[in-house]
Amino acid sequence: MATVCKHPRVRVVSRHDDAEFVECLECGEIFDAEEFRDMEIEEDAEQEERPEEAD
Ligand SMILES: [Zn+2]
Repeated sequence: MATVCKHPRVRVVSRHDDAEFVECLECGEIFDAEEFRDMEIEEDAEQEERPEEAD
């Protein structure tokens, strides 16, 4: 549980009308493609949100 996979490489395994499921080639996890995008965005936001210690 210590290793956090960022799912750098994924492939589409299943597709529904408006949902797409992808599988991570690194850890084998399967998740919603939209969820994956959310994760990426969240991570970006987190890095940008670094509060600079203004006194
Ligand atoms: Zn992964």
